[in-house]
Amino acid sequence: MVEIIVEDAQPESPIAFAAQELKRYVKQMSGAELIVVRASSPKPSILLAIRQLSAHKSQKPPELDDPREEDHYRLNIDPQKLQIEGASARAVLFGAYDLLERLGCGWCVPGDDSIPKHDTLQIAPLQVDARPAFHYRMMLDFPLLSIAQSIAISDWIAKNRLNWVHECPNAHGEPKTWYDRRDRVLPEIKKRGLHLILGGHTMRTWVPETHFASHPEWFALQESERKPPTLCITQPQMTGELIKNMRHFLDRCPEVEVVDLWHTDGEVFCHCSNCTRGVVNEKQPPPADAVQSAYLISYVEWINQVAAALAKSHPNVMVGPLIYSQTDRAIPDGAPAVADNVLVGLAHFFRDSYRPLIGEPKSAINLRFLGNDLTWMGKSKHSYIYEYYNGWTAPYVYPGAQVIVADLQTLQTLHVQGASSDMYGYSPINMYVAARALWSPNIDWKELVRDFCNRYYGDVAEEMTTNEIRLETGIFGLGGYQANGARAPEKPGAPLTSGRYLQNQRPGQITFLKRLIDKTKNQEVRMRLDRALKPWSLWNDEPRFWAFPDFADPN
Ligand SMILES: [Zn+2]
Repeated sequence: MVEIIVEDAQPESPIAFAAQELKRYVKQMSGAELIVVRASSPKPSILLAIRQLSAHKSQKPPELDDPREEDHYRLNIDPQKLQIEGASARAVLFGAYDLLERLGCGWCVPGDDSIPKHDTLQIAPLQVDARPAFHYRMMLDFPLLSIAQSIAISDWIAKNRLNWVHECPNAHGEPKTWYDRRDRVLPEIKKRGLHLILGGHTMRTWVPETHFASHPEWFALQESERKPPTLCITQPQMTGELIKNMRHFLDRCPEVEVVDLWHTDGEVFCHCSNCTRGVVNEKQPPPADAVQSAYLISYVEWINQVAAALAKSHPNVMVGPLIYSQTDRAIPDGAPAVADNVLVGLAHFFRDSYRPLIGEPKSAINLRFLGNDLTWMGKSKHSYIYEYYNGWTAPYVYPGAQVIVADLQTLQTLHVQGASSDMYGYSPINMYVAARALWSPNIDWKELVRDFCNRYYGDVAEEMTTNEIRLETGIFGLGGYQANGARAPEKPGAPLTSGRYLQNQRPGQITFLKRLIDKTKNQEVRMRLDRALKPWSLWNDEPRFWAFPDFADPN
């Protein structure tokens, strides 16, 4: 009988949850019952403990401590004892999931764990010392569909050792979809020790369109007309209302550590003479670049103004702007530094998905993003890259693992603090590879693809690995964004060689997957292959979450 010894665990703590997870999966794998105890005994045991793990006891003030240390964990395995020590309770949980992976578990897709069956569980003596390369390791939950799906996403995030979940209600007015699921989802986030960022496109959340009738001047001026939902960011009364509503929300939801303040999802921004700092001249329109740069200075001032107000009322909360669309450019030299309680997201929307950020084959689009990122990093204390690792465009086929790993190697070299992924659809191999590369980017993407397929595709893993690597290798270096153009590559204005490549693969992929569906003897694998066939066979807008099991909530 093996005991799990848990030091100092509050029942709600991630370390207590780590013990439950070990017990649960060991039982599922082998039928063995682990017993959770509080004190050491001479029996074989698994010890879970929080420890100071950094090599040198820090002499520096706390603000100079490396935040990545929080997720540092160690596994020490010898014949009598198995120790999981973490610098925090969450790090202990990460260590437990690492151990379970080494015992054969697979955390490949949210809500669809792979649990192998064994008569006995064995693991060779081992020492692991793991510490993430990036501080911010994040993924969105968008849109907020079923509660079961939100919970499965948080569960996957923790199992894959990411540390932030980004809930995106994208609400008009108060985020009711979060309020409605908060009681169910929040305990799941807390027991995993995950950080929470919340919002999305939230100008309309904090100052909704319903104010337009009484206050048209609060909304953006575009082509001589004020229109909601984008805001006039230099309008002081509007900013007062926005701060009041953000505070009200944060009082109601004290779990939120970063609150988003993104533009609306579009291209409209306010062209009034205040927001554009007098650059706009009715008689002779200035270049669009000049207008947008002037606006961006106003935007940084506005973000800082909101951040200063929240620093007074909610000093532990950060404001989260996204540098995207309306603000997608380098920070102007005339803009102030971004305030310390702001976490800047730097979006790479419509990048070349199959070309690295830097290197061959060269992408002017990607190099521009990277150059802009560096200017923001230079003037911000906290920032992360907002990527699109998940499929975003129909039919949601996106073999991007090779570029994801190459990019994270680049970003580590540049001392980027972290990366997040959007989630409009879901691309399981990309996310699995990204999560691992966010810990240690100097890894072989092909080995990670193989690792995913071995854990997920059972008796057809070898064929699935070979196929995925062939798709990745074939599309690498071609121009275009994700699956864009794949459904109509001959359409004018869509010279997307990557889309044409995917379209050409379609008949072969359908034949290949149908053959494996006939071949596999494993019912679970057959269901996974049926799902993998969907985007190729439907080739339309339906299969956004083709990789997920059914997450419908019971009525
Ligand atoms: Zn304005």
